[in-house]
Amino acid sequence: MGIGSTLMAGIGLGDPVIRLGVTGLSRAGKTVFITSLVANLMDRGRMHALRAAADGSIKAAWLQPQPDDTIPRFDFERHLAALTGPEPHWPEGTRHVSQLRLSLRLDGRGLLGGLTGPRTVHLDIVDYPGEWLLDLRLMEKDFSEWSAEVLDRMQGRPGAEEYQAALNGLDGDRFDEPVAQRLAQTYTAHLHAAREAGWSDCTPGRFLIPGEMEGSPALTFAPLPASFEGGRLHKEFRRRFDAYKSRVVKPFFRDHFARIDRQVVLVDVLGAIHQGPRAVEDMRRAMADILTAFRPGRAGWLAQLLGTRRVERILFAATKADHLHQVQHNRLTAILSAMLREARDRADFSGARTEAMSIAALRATTEDVIHQDGQELPAVRGRLLDGRQAAFYPGELPADPAAVLHPARDGADRWLDGDYAIMNFAPAPMTARPGDGPPHIRLDRAAEFLIGDRL
Ligand code: GDP
Repeated sequence: MGIGSTLMAGIGLGDPVIRLGVTGLSRAGKTVFITSLVANLMDRGRMHALRAAADGSIKAAWLQPQPDDTIPRFDFERHLAALTGPEPHWPEGTRHVSQLRLSLRLDGRGLLGGLTGPRTVHLDIVDYPGEWLLDLRLMEKDFSEWSAEVLDRMQGRPGAEEYQAALNGLDGDRFDEPVAQRLAQTYTAHLHAAREAGWSDCTPGRFLIPGEMEGSPALTFAPLPASFEGGRLHKEFRRRFDAYKSRVVKPFFRDHFARIDRQVVLVDVLGAIHQGPRAVEDMRRAMADILTAFRPGRAGWLAQLLGTRRVERILFAATKADHLHQVQHNRLTAILSAMLREARDRADFSGARTEAMSIAALRATTEDVIHQDGQELPAVRGRLLDGRQAAFYPGELPADPAAVLHPARDGADRWLDGDYAIMNFAPAPMTARPGDGPPHIRLDRAAEFLIGDRL
């Protein structure tokens, strides 16, 4: 093979690279999204809204070794086998940063329609937990400020009393590693319980998703009340908190975040709406926090780190839209847009193009109608994890997003109070024609927005 054909095979050094970040809080749908996106870029039969797929410009797509030797590879093959094997099941979700390189070979049509000769574009997909972006908030704070904030916020949340009890009677003048570990564990248990119950703003993010840092001293601290200030325990926790910021949070932003060109933020809006108004409000705040990372007036150290680089496009996607009949999809998108409005305006200001969409990366249902009490309810049909096949009506979303975001004080408004709670669908067995990727809803539109202009 001569040099020319080596370049044509797509390993040319100068080929353009698009780095696509995929994030969202745990269980938002990152793993399913990446797996289905890659499978659908390789088999493009269901990607009509991706212009370069529909008009045949993409001639081939294949996986390659990624350029970063020290970042774990996204386990595409295993996740795809889970979703599309003989007994389809959901893959394990994101637990750390991972990456995958998909190379796309494009024909001679250039970006402006002129003839450019065949080109190769590499799509480097970087998967990382949204929880880690939330740590940005903690960078501007010192240990005392952070402690005061989280101790205040934790009131009334699950596990708060246990943590309070663990603090009671502690001698702040002593430092013992087992005591530090017990406090950190009790605090982490509280964070997990709070997440389970629908709260989003839980820091430090690595306590929930430690990645490779599990058990290290930088992850073994917990918030302390002001009464502990001056004591040895407080001093050591303050030191570890600072180490967490400089050794864990900063390197993540430097090594991963700072290199992203395009970003998709996945949001389980339906899950939060189902949990109720407090979860929705909390998710709204967490999203606003996540977006501070993309704002022009961002913290000085981050601005320094990023220089003139910035994320050019950000897609916010409400995931798992296959739980709803399509007649409700516009309402879901409207709620997501309203939830992000303030934060989004600010990101727009920095020059990033943003868009909100409702998607299902892996469609597990088909549409149906349920006849009930003389009414026709727009439903979806699918197979539940327990094997039952049936049609379900999840309940209704309001036409006005304000009803979800600013509910009546009396808490009388309940949304998605139909079958939503029991709609644990399993991925549907594949019945794809050759050349088709896994079924989805609007994944092609998401891809067009994210990378279409570069193909
Ligand atoms: P991650 O933690 O962000 O990586 O989330 P996953 O990709 O593992 O998704 C979490 C769970 O959400 C999955 O196990 C599925 O139950 C559900 N899920 C994700 N995407 C879809 C989708 O497109 N349709 C449906 N019905 N469920 C989904």
